Amino acid sequence: MLDADFFRRWMAAAAASVGREAQRLTDLDSAIGDADHGINMQRGFTAVTAALAEEAPNTPGAVLILAGRQLISKVGGASGPLYGTLLRRTGKALGEAAEVSEGQLAAALRDGVDGVMKLGGAVPGDKTMIDALVPAVDALGEGFAAARAAAEQGAEATIPLQARKGRASYLGERSIGHQDPGATSSALLIAGLSAAAE
Ligand code: ADP
Ligand code: MG
Ligand code: MG
Repeated sequence: MLDADFFRRWMAAAAASVGREAQRLTDLDSAIGDADHGINMQRGFTAVTAALAEEAPNTPGAVLILAGRQLISKVGGASGPLYGTLLRRTGKALGEAAEVSEGQLAAALRDGVDGVMKLGGAVPGDKTMIDALVPAVDALGEGFAAARAAAEQGAEATIPLQARKGRASYLGERSIGHQDPGATSSALLIAGLSAAAE
């Protein structure tokens, strides 16, 4: 079973890898966006870390809802409300239980990803974070390591795609040949989940 501590470890691992990879995320965004994705993610996860230290929520759902709220309120870019919705919706779906199973987490994350698709209107193949998140959720039944591998493959598979949502879509065919920054940060988020389970 996964307790609040597991979810705090997840957020801490995500914050650490976003910090380590911020430059790479910004470089990817400079190719097909406005060169701020690393900065946006770092600002958001710094706020998540601070809020979790201050409020110490004690259920899995409360950890994710608090984290999601920080991302929505502290990140200016498109990614803030989208990631915030992902975590908030996932947290709401987990309810008030002190511990949840891996199966419950998989179902809740599915809800979260559905929320992101509703809010942003993206579907798989549009070259967005959805291209890493959907394969990760699909693979989660096989374990956290499988979800991580699926998210990383999904992010790499955005390279040949033409963007149909977000800023990169303004480039039309010129968005082809670059990895999507948001799919790349989503792979980091799912890698953090796998790290929390180790
Ligand atoms: P902004 O584009 O506002 O500068 P970021 O650079 O932080 O925001 O985030 C860009 C990422 O957000 C993209 O690489 C993409 O993965 C994701 N994104 C943008 N629009 C959407 C959308 N409508 N649905 C899903 N993801 C999106
Ligand atoms: Mg950007
Ligand atoms: Mg921006």
